[in-house]
Amino acid sequence: MTRFWHSAATSPGRVRRVNEDSYLAIPPLFAVADGMGGHGAGDLASRLAVDTLTSATRARPLTADGVLAALDAANRAIVTYEGAKGMGTTITGLALLETGGGDHLMVFNVGDSRVYRLVEGRLDQVTVDHSEVQELVLAGVITRDQARVHPRRNIVTRALGTDPGPRPDYWLLPASAGDRFLVCSDGLYTEVPDERIAVLLASGSPQVAAAALVAAAEDAGGHDNVTVIVAEVGYGDLSGSGGALDETRVDVTALPRGELPGQSGNG
Ligand code: MG
Repeated sequence: MTRFWHSAATSPGRVRRVNEDSYLAIPPLFAVADGMGGHGAGDLASRLAVDTLTSATRARPLTADGVLAALDAANRAIVTYEGAKGMGTTITGLALLETGGGDHLMVFNVGDSRVYRLVEGRLDQVTVDHSEVQELVLAGVITRDQARVHPRRNIVTRALGTDPGPRPDYWLLPASAGDRFLVCSDGLYTEVPDERIAVLLASGSPQVAAAALVAAAEDAGGHDNVTVIVAEVGYGDLSGSGGALDETRVDVTALPRGELPGQSGNG
């Protein structure tokens, strides 16, 4: 039986007053949403997405179709919300599926938040950003490092909150014990290069790694909200895992209330 050893951390960063990122870390589902839209709407959009995803994935066994239906429901929840036009959110994450008698992982993505996988010290980005700069990287116009500092790095090409709804990307992966996944908003990877992410992601327990990643983004400037979930695949026998599995240790920086975001966009 596949289980997870996980932790989550989020911060508004050093510049913004409001945290428009939302996340859920309730095994077997982990997700990060980065909201966009001025006047508090980004905060609302990401929260609506995460809450809808949570309630729409209660059925067991969890299937890929179930996750896709939940993402569609999250999109509709944002589109039909009264009084908040033009808001949207990214959403990306990881779900454990029970299909065909075995456990598989489904990675899903809409927008430019990311899922990375760390296997034996090697970091791979599983998701492909839906962003203008990703198109430029694919076309060979700019490098990945140039994309991190490009002036249009915040422009996403797919998001929840559109009619018709966006087509989510998804990948099915084997659930291999010891693999460590990182789900994060762009506030991490625009501040911290992948080489540093790999080192910090491997730096200790999921709690230690999650806190170190958020601290690194803040130390690098913390220009955006930053959210990370670190989830390591384990099995029912807890020996050798270094600690209890299915452990939720959440370190949420207190959010200032009653303030409007300083600017729109999800960057
Ligand atoms: Mg962001």
